[in-house]
Formats: sequence, structure tokens, C-alpha cells
Amino acid sequence: MPEPDLHRLVACEYCDALYERTSLAPGERATCLRCGGALYRESAHAYRRLLPLVTTALILFLISNTYPIVEMDLKGVRTQTTLWGAVQALQADHMTLVAMLVFATTILFPLSEMLMMCYLLVPMARKRMPPGFDSIVRGIRQTRPWGMIEVFMIGVLVTVVKLSSMAQVLPGVALWSFGALVVVLAAMLSFDPRDLWHYLETPDADDVPPGSPDATS
Ligand SMILES: [Zn+2]
Repeated sequence: MPEPDLHRLVACEYCDALYERTSLAPGERATCLRCGGALYRESAHAYRRLLPLVTTALILFLISNTYPIVEMDLKGVRTQTTLWGAVQALQADHMTLVAMLVFATTILFPLSEMLMMCYLLVPMARKRMPPGFDSIVRGIRQTRPWGMIEVFMIGVLVTVVKLSSMAQVLPGVALWSFGALVVVLAAMLSFDPRDLWHYLETPDADDVPPGSPDATS
């Protein structure tokens, strides 16, 4: 048996019992022997889908923000504008707080999460350790509560409601692309960034047979 190293150790979040990670079969979940709390899930499958997922999310994000999403009256002229244009219109209409909320929830947080994930996943696909790995994982975990899908949808909803007096939502490319983005983001956010450690430490984790049944349920 190799020496247990620190990155393979996993602590129970509920009772602090320490375990050494073992590989799980698809769909398996490790639980604490002492208190029955959830430790971690098998995520090799999710991990392999992660980079394509993040790439898809980025493309959908670009499409959503390139095509006009609302049509509004600006100084008597009917114009179609993107989400960013809508944020600026809210700001111009003295709804600065709403504009900031919409900008943060629909643009800033999803984009920074996607970029941080790309930053980690692209070198990792070539089995390389990206510089600043720790701080990026911590960054992702800290922005998570704000990058959540519910918050994103509230942001879109607030935009629609607040703009409803002066704008109409266009049922076009941007709107459908936003709908698809919600689904892809939900799948991406279901992945715990802490699991990335595991794949960096054991690049061949996918090929390791399922571990001891003691730590699994
Ligand atoms: Zn426990």
C-alpha cells in the first residue's frame, strides 16, 4: 500500500472522522461509517463531461449576450438590445441597484465561474497543474452561492419585470440560448470543485477498480 497522502484524505463534514479516499464505481456514494453523513460521490464520469460542459456554457453565454434579448423605446426610437444594453438602460433609468444586481447575477458571476473552471480544466486535460490551483478552487467555492442557478434566474426575471414598462422580451436566439444556458449551468454547478484535487493527484483514477466496499454504500 502506498503512503496515505494528505490530498487523498477526506474528513466527514458532520463528525470530523477522517477517511482515505477510494475510487468508487459510477453512481456510488461514500458515506461516513460513524454518522452516516455523505462524504463524496463518484465523479469521474461528471469530471470527463466537465470541460465540454463548460465550453458549451461559454458558447451559449456568448450567443445569449451577442443577440438582442429585449426591444425598447429609447427617446422615441424602437431599438433591440442585448442583456448588457438592458443593464445600461436600467442604469440610465436611475435603477442603479437593479442594474448592478442584474449585471452581477447574469453576467459577472456566471462568466467568472466559467472562466475559472476553464483555467483549471484546460491544463488539467493535459495532466498539468495550473498555477494557483488552491486559490482558484477556493474562489469558485466562494462565488458559488452567488453563481447559483436560482440567483441567475432571479436576475433574468428581475430584468424582464423591471423592463416590462419600457421593453419587450424578444422570443429570439438570445432567449432560447439563455434557456439552454440555464440547463448547462445547472449541470456544471452540480460538480463540487473540491473533487478536482482527486483527478489531479491520480490522473489515472478512471482506470482504478472500485475501492473497498467499507467506505461505500
Ligand atoms: Zn461522520
